[in-house]
Amino acid sequence: MTDVLISGGGVAGCALAWWLRHRGFRPTVVERAAAPRDGGYKVDVRGAALTVLDRMGLTGSVRAHDTGMRLARFLDRRGRQLATMDAALFGGRTGGDVEIMRGDLTRILRAATGDVEHRFDDSVTALRPTADGMDVTFARGAHRRFDLVIGADGLHSTVRRLAFGPESAYLRPLGHHIAICTVPSGFGEERVELLHPAPGRTVGVYRTAGAPDARALFLFRSPAEAPDQGDAAGQRALLGRAFAGSGWRVPELLAALPDAPDLYLDAMSQVRMERWSSGRVGLVGDAAYAASPASGQGTSLGLVGAYVLAAALAEAGGQPAAGFAAYEQRMRPFVAANQALAERNLKGMVLGSATQIRFQTSMLRLLPRLPGRERMVSRVAEPIRRASDAITLPDPPARAA
Ligand SMILES: Cc1cc2nc3c(=O)[nH]c(=O)nc-3n(C[C@H](O)[C@H](O)[C@H](O)COP(=O)(O)OP(=O)(O)OC[C@H]3O[C@@H](n4cnc5c(N)ncnc54)[C@H](O)[C@@H]3O)c2cc1C
Repeated sequence: MTDVLISGGGVAGCALAWWLRHRGFRPTVVERAAAPRDGGYKVDVRGAALTVLDRMGLTGSVRAHDTGMRLARFLDRRGRQLATMDAALFGGRTGGDVEIMRGDLTRILRAATGDVEHRFDDSVTALRPTADGMDVTFARGAHRRFDLVIGADGLHSTVRRLAFGPESAYLRPLGHHIAICTVPSGFGEERVELLHPAPGRTVGVYRTAGAPDARALFLFRSPAEAPDQGDAAGQRALLGRAFAGSGWRVPELLAALPDAPDLYLDAMSQVRMERWSSGRVGLVGDAAYAASPASGQGTSLGLVGAYVLAAALAEAGGQPAAGFAAYEQRMRPFVAANQALAERNLKGMVLGSATQIRFQTSMLRLLPRLPGRERMVSRVAEPIRRASDAITLPDPPARAA
């Protein structure tokens, strides 16, 4: 049996483990986090990725954890309502699209992998090709041999660094930063996205159905490099500078940051690579083709990528060169279509001037009364819908069909 090491137990890693197991491989997942991580932030599953979930028999469990968001409320600096918008329209969701917390989706996927070995609190530190496999060294566990190694370890992938070189060659910054953290429930309103847009920076707070706390989201233009992931003081200082003088409850949110258990801040970037494989090492999900949170499609890319990679490797009888080549050929146009959404979406998420904000909120207020409203709404959602369906999935294996 072909032994496959998957580095990273997020959405792409767990989905890949599921599909490889159903295609007759023996996957092992190594995850750097000490334990499964709950919560995180809201993510969307759309188009072809819904078909993948369906073929895994997981649609019901995923829908049962839908965030249930109903409204987006735009607020001015004094907290007065400027406009409202249906939450699905705000998130670019149509038809059967699902919004779920990343932690819930990962937990559902991981639980479905059955007897697959998931090793937490460990990480790959070295990869060495041998005549017929890969020798893998771990930070904690014993050194082991695998037939294939797949990096599903996200935007700052370790496997990518080890097999392809420093990330600076592949990360393409989009000129904005994103920060997200848990804040007390009192900042939010259940099932509502509260949004305070200002020139060059937007703050949002949301509380999903039944959640005990709220999430704050900070988006801002900045050419600066993000502080290191572990540098919480540097991250708070950068946010303080970027949101100095803000209105609404932003000063209170900033004051709450030192108590936030999970502050995440990073430069919004995409991953662009000419190849997603090298020898017996391949990449999937954000590690290979992060589209950035602005695309809203990273989760769907991870699910579809996992499905297509497992199918391609199975069809190639586990032969890496043929399997990886077929995977790339099928995924490239889908990735390009979805990465292209990010810059366009960002322009609507962080507006450049007070005039643009006034125009956007006036349009939102007028929208319900405008003739041709349906057509205008579908024009907004159409590019996302088209991109999320821009792939023909290979057939599932007989057992999983
Ligand atoms: C703030 C934010 C908001 C987002 N919003 C959306 C959205 O609205 N819609 C959407 O579709 N997508 C969104 N995304 C993107 C989405 O989360 C990712 O595109 C998606 O989760 C890709 O999954 P992945 O499994 O490839 O990577 P990740 O989710 O990053 O998972 C990588 C996993 O690998 C682990 N790992 C990292 N390094 C190592 C290592 N060295 N060894 C072992 N394990 C390691 C990590 O702990 C993690 O579990 C957002 C992302 C962020 C950061």
